[in-house]
Amino acid sequence: MQNGVFCISERRLSIYSNYMFNAKAYSAASATSPLAATMIARRDPTEYDVQIEILYCGICHSDLHQVRNEWSEFIPTVYPCVPGHEIVGRVTHVGSSVTKFKSGDLAAVGCMVDSDRTCAECQAGLEQFCPNPIYTYNFPDKHLGGVTYGGYSDSIVVDQRFVLHVPSNLDLAGAAPLLCAGITTYSPMHHWGVSKGKKVGVVGLGGLGHMGVKIAHALGAHVVVFTTTPNKKDDALRLGADEVVISKHADEMQKHAGSFDFILDAVSADHDINAYINLLRRDGNLTLVGAPNKPLPVAAFGLIMGRRSLSGSPIGGIPETQQMLDFCGQHNITADVEVIPIQKVNEAYERLLTSDVKYRFSIDMASLKYE
Ligand code: NAP
Ligand code: ZN
Repeated sequence: MQNGVFCISERRLSIYSNYMFNAKAYSAASATSPLAATMIARRDPTEYDVQIEILYCGICHSDLHQVRNEWSEFIPTVYPCVPGHEIVGRVTHVGSSVTKFKSGDLAAVGCMVDSDRTCAECQAGLEQFCPNPIYTYNFPDKHLGGVTYGGYSDSIVVDQRFVLHVPSNLDLAGAAPLLCAGITTYSPMHHWGVSKGKKVGVVGLGGLGHMGVKIAHALGAHVVVFTTTPNKKDDALRLGADEVVISKHADEMQKHAGSFDFILDAVSADHDINAYINLLRRDGNLTLVGAPNKPLPVAAFGLIMGRRSLSGSPIGGIPETQQMLDFCGQHNITADVEVIPIQKVNEAYERLLTSDVKYRFSIDMASLKYE
């Protein structure tokens, strides 16, 4: 246990609330510290809250970016940081006015735990665009003070509005990554009209990319995967790709020039996006979901000549996240996961940096019992 975390939580408690309990978690103490076991405070469920015993939590590359403060210009990390926003578990308690869940239900939490609920975006169910969002970790915690703590923990307490239902047919370890990797790829495909007859590219076969392939395939598109890792080719085809291009091979890239309706770029590091913009047809769109920490240069003529567009997309709103989960339930889609105990989380982070994961780590939270 890190004394600092616990003491700070106790101090917060005296300021904000008398009702809290202790939860086990893994946190990072600084941008250069490994994640380690700790205790954190969680609020007791208030009127509309759902308390969840976390069973599985996916490891998103965003967790690594934030633990290491790589997005310091946009979202500086507050330490200690408890990451994790791909959460699946079982409801253990509900507040007196909760109608959406009862004790024993399966439940899931993604990247957001609250928003202002009053702005036009929230009213439209597009909470991901709310100007005052509360993300699942590293955002101000209005109940206990300090910042929110995420899913690398044995429990979490969240307002029912931000808790999702998990289709009962889905494997839980594989369902956890749907809460970020699933919705982040589903939402832009939905927005840009990916459907039967469309040619869709997915760049980077990692956690997001492999979900993008499964979802685009289920939507009926012709799917082409772009990877830097030649030995992922067979997996890409098994996951639902129709074709695979090794992006380092210029001749293979050139064959697809001017042909894509939509390309989803899910790469976590610096790379040349102009090579992909040139593969779009007239009026085609490339959406960035990958979030490298450095700016990506864009050649104006690639966009100008084909009236092509470049956009970005953040996660998805709560109604669309439920829609995505239901879609995955209907199509029996889950992530391909490597289930690990929490004690292996630091090793998993190093493997993410060498693209060595097939295709998402999912932490079995029962392993926290040994801490
Ligand atoms: P991941 O599992 O680590 O996958 C990233 C993939 O990018 C790798 O598997 C690799 O695919 C490719 N890649 C890595 N380094 C590369 C390089 N130097 N050049 C070219 N390709 C490279 O990561 P993830 O969890 O899917 O997340 C991907 C990115 O999306 C991260 O930046 C993350 O923060 C961001 N993200 C954004 C949102 C959002 O709301 N927009 C939500 C979640 C995550 P190949 O081996 O196939 O080349
Ligand atoms: Zn994520």
